[in-house]
Amino acid sequence: MTRTILITGGGTGIGRAAARHFAEDGGAVIVTGRRPEPLDRLAEEIGVRALVCDHTKPEALTKLLSKLPERIDVLVNNAGGNTDFDTAGPTDLASYAQAFRANLDANLVGAALTTRALDERLAEGGAVVHVGSIAAALGSGSGAYGAAKAGLHVWNLDLARALGPRGITANVVAPGYIADTEFFRNHLADERREQLVADTSTGRAGSPEDVAGTIAFLASPAARHITGQVLHVNGGAHTTH
Ligand code: NDP
Repeated sequence: MTRTILITGGGTGIGRAAARHFAEDGGAVIVTGRRPEPLDRLAEEIGVRALVCDHTKPEALTKLLSKLPERIDVLVNNAGGNTDFDTAGPTDLASYAQAFRANLDANLVGAALTTRALDERLAEGGAVVHVGSIAAALGSGSGAYGAAKAGLHVWNLDLARALGPRGITANVVAPGYIADTEFFRNHLADERREQLVADTSTGRAGSPEDVAGTIAFLASPAARHITGQVLHVNGGAHTTH
């Protein structure tokens, strides 16, 4: 049977690579994001379905539900990013609160809302995969972004418990530095980039395909007894033992 895969933030970077991976594997892929342009481009290129949605907004999710099929086999909560890159920086307590909450919304609340909205449609034997971050473990000066991803990693434990009896797994893929995405905007200085690569054992930046392959593995029949885990894709920049 053809699997239906929903990838949030699927128009660019890691989400886009995951969409390609699942589509090449024969899945019926749906990608979402706030901007229609990258989504439409990808839809034209590889024949996935594109739907505009801001995953931090409950009303947008309700609208999205009306356009989605009754059965979702794989949900990839990939949408997110460090929202501090898009702001001038807080000037007072109110703008600090706003900026902090924006990161929580983008990286934690959005994934929780999306999973909740889709709960009844998640198919038995299916998988939820969130895209977390190395920042959850290392911080790396990432402030509210790292805190939000750490929250996502921990919230997933409850999710795995709740979905386990239905045969649905819930895991986190935590990338290290991944090049060729829109993540850093223009905030990555050459020295910092070199440091991030030097921190790896592989001596290279990760690619969106590196992460996509791991997401696909966690959603595959080979990974049915893996749940509640954080799988790191960072070339050894952070290791667990
Ligand atoms: P991109 O910026 O290329 O991808 C993020 C995607 O998410 C965009 O397509 C964006 O589209 C979408 N998005 C963001 N917010 C929302 C929202 N509220 N609703 C719907 N879509 C949204 O960067 P990456 O591919 O690198 O990022 C993918 C994930 O990987 C993120 O969660 C990021 O935190 C994580 N990550 C990335 C790392 C890296 O080094 N690149 C390292 C560790 C983690 P639009 O703006 O149109 O909505």
